[in-house]
Amino acid sequence: MTILDTGVKIVRNVGRFTFGDGAVSGVADLVASKRSAETPHAIFLIDDYFKNEYYTASSLGAKPTDAVHFVSTVNEPTTQSIDELVAVLQKSGHKTPATIVGFGGGITLDTAKAVSNLLTNGGLAAEYQGWDLVRVPGVHKIGVPTISGTGSEATRTCVMTNIETGLKLGMNSDFTVFDHVVLDPSLTRTVPRNQYFFTGMDAYIHCIEALAGSYRNAIGDAYSRETVNLCRNVFLSNDMMADERRSDLMVASYLGGCAIATSYVGVIHPFSAALSVVFGLHHCVANCIVLDALGEFYPEAHTEFRKMIELQKVELPRGVCANLTDDLRAALIAATIKHEKPLTNALGSNFRATLTDTRIISLFEKM
Ligand code: ZN
Repeated sequence: MTILDTGVKIVRNVGRFTFGDGAVSGVADLVASKRSAETPHAIFLIDDYFKNEYYTASSLGAKPTDAVHFVSTVNEPTTQSIDELVAVLQKSGHKTPATIVGFGGGITLDTAKAVSNLLTNGGLAAEYQGWDLVRVPGVHKIGVPTISGTGSEATRTCVMTNIETGLKLGMNSDFTVFDHVVLDPSLTRTVPRNQYFFTGMDAYIHCIEALAGSYRNAIGDAYSRETVNLCRNVFLSNDMMADERRSDLMVASYLGGCAIATSYVGVIHPFSAALSVVFGLHHCVANCIVLDALGEFYPEAHTEFRKMIELQKVELPRGVCANLTDDLRAALIAATIKHEKPLTNALGSNFRATLTDTRIISLFEKM
């Protein structure tokens, strides 16, 4: 295999981070330190999983004059939903907040990053889908993940789908990186088991794809190797949700996010993106469905994945592509092959020679 240069020369990591059980108790002080006479208010974007826990916002330091918004996780962010949220915040007088706190899973963290960029850059979310299109730094932002795996807390992107064009692409920019991340493993204690598994596997899948690819970066490889090791610690143990294992997975998620900044994914993510765009399946469960069907591309990871899912007694949705019509087949193929960079990373620039329409559909039919 020829090793290709990722082209990534300069990498920005999270400005500061705090780690450990109980670290979340420091968020209120962090928020207070950002308030000033000119910017007295803050914005809190909280995963709607916590909607009924009325004390969540106040425990993070929210005051009655701040904006507290619960982010729906039914659907992944769209450029349209981000624009609506920004308009609501601006109308309620929160154009220049002291800081934005994102508290939740990948959807909520990505939403916080996108809102931060839009409040200072203006315009619409779709204008910034791509690479280095964000012009000026966003509002100061603090990320607090409450589930581990997507690495959203560490990455320089915030994934959004434009429902008009079908484009699923984030605002890839140094300005998208959180200024401060608070990693508190005690927050993941109550995550439902299936969701914990699927989301955690996102970190594993990113890194096995990166390590199998042609585009390589020595630092990215080191992050990826340790992420895979930590995921093995977690998912090959008897209890993936034991205290120490939840701590391992939070570190894996963060390091996996750092790995993404310098590497590319492979065949799994393009197929998974197609399942998300065509059927609205969430990213992490879609990844697992795809890895389960793509053993021919990743035989070792596939065997390990099967071992993990059986050991943790997690059930994978079946038959998601059971009733394909011609239109659905065409949509799935188009949504898969448009991810040229990851497919080139995995299969070479002539990837269509091996990844024919017939083969793509036969793989989807296994899911
Ligand atoms: Zn992913």
